Amino acid sequence: MPREIYFIDVTNRDGVQTSRILLPKLAKTMINIYLDEMGVFQSEIGFPTLRHEKNYINANLALEKAGAFRRIRLEGWCRAITGDVELAFRNCPDLRHLNLSVSTSDIMINGKFQGKTAWADIVESMGKAVRLARELGAETVGINAEDASRTDLQRLIDFALAGKEAGADRLRYCDTLGADDPITIHERIRALGLATKFPIEMHCHNDLGMAEAVSVAGALGAAEAGIDCYINTTLNGYGERCGNCDLVSSMLALKYSQGLSRKIQCDRHVDLKKSWKVAKYSSYAFGLPIPINQPGVGANAFAHESGIHADGALKDRRNYELYDPEDVGRGEPELLETGRIITTGEYGGIKGFRHVYNRLGIYFHDDGEARNILDLVQYANLHTQKPLTDDELRLIAKHPDMVRQLLSVNP
Ligand SMILES: [Zn+2]
Repeated sequence: MPREIYFIDVTNRDGVQTSRILLPKLAKTMINIYLDEMGVFQSEIGFPTLRHEKNYINANLALEKAGAFRRIRLEGWCRAITGDVELAFRNCPDLRHLNLSVSTSDIMINGKFQGKTAWADIVESMGKAVRLARELGAETVGINAEDASRTDLQRLIDFALAGKEAGADRLRYCDTLGADDPITIHERIRALGLATKFPIEMHCHNDLGMAEAVSVAGALGAAEAGIDCYINTTLNGYGERCGNCDLVSSMLALKYSQGLSRKIQCDRHVDLKKSWKVAKYSSYAFGLPIPINQPGVGANAFAHESGIHADGALKDRRNYELYDPEDVGRGEPELLETGRIITTGEYGGIKGFRHVYNRLGIYFHDDGEARNILDLVQYANLHTQKPLTDDELRLIAKHPDMVRQLLSVNP
């Protein structure tokens, strides 16, 4: 059997930290829920050291306890220093999964720390942070080598082994600048895996337009070295500068590419049919269109017009399509109604509110409860400043306490 490759989606951390890309906490929560429905292994939910993330993260951890997620791991990101780890657990005591990040390349160490921090200090500080995270209750810890692609291979091996020794679970190989290519990264990851036998995460950026190619090539190298591999992705590829490795595209690559799919395979928990819903929701929540030619979910992914193409596709779709629209869940109803409609939101009243919820099959028999949920709906809409989707309304009605918590931000 080809080795399974797992997915860690970092939309809610790398995606949202990006310039001019914004998400309300309610949308971040919906994304965690959709990623879980899709069978994604882990969501990097945000920054536990950041004050305005605290209520959102704690509310999501409470949702997890309440059974709102089936399998997904919710993980926080911070720097690989004890001060950050301490603060992360002070803010979010129920956090169980953490990734700790530090630069490892000479160019970054010299350029950022300006000679004040030596390599040995970085490794020591990372080790201390990993040990502290373990002491404070982390069940899994990943160590992120920022700019790994421009880091000397032997140094990365030493870093991984020191992390393993300190009790970490995985190394995140960050192609921070998108500088790697599929051939080089395949060789490097294979060598790293053989030397350390330490599970690895591929974290690749798209500055050269190769984020997915580089990620799957790295995953192949990891599989050949006999280690587990996790691909970091974002929804619709949103992320720093030219973006990150796109979730749906890399899943499609593992499933449908000619050679690769014989050697490695997509995590068997993944349901590609959720692609359309999660991509459309992300586009809506981010307020950014999906490019017309986006793999799987772009408007033109299954469109044919030119003479030879249309004729061929009509005779047999396999002449021009690798997979079907249904494989990525297209054909589901749109997020928002397009005909006559009553909506509920920031300025809504009780009658419209009841009408909207009744249409979703949700009835409030207690008047006080209805007023409470309406109040929350008003605040949720104040917070998102976009019409609330049916799934957002369902979440508000089902878990009002957690939604109230994640909407609470006190500067
Ligand atoms: Zn990144």
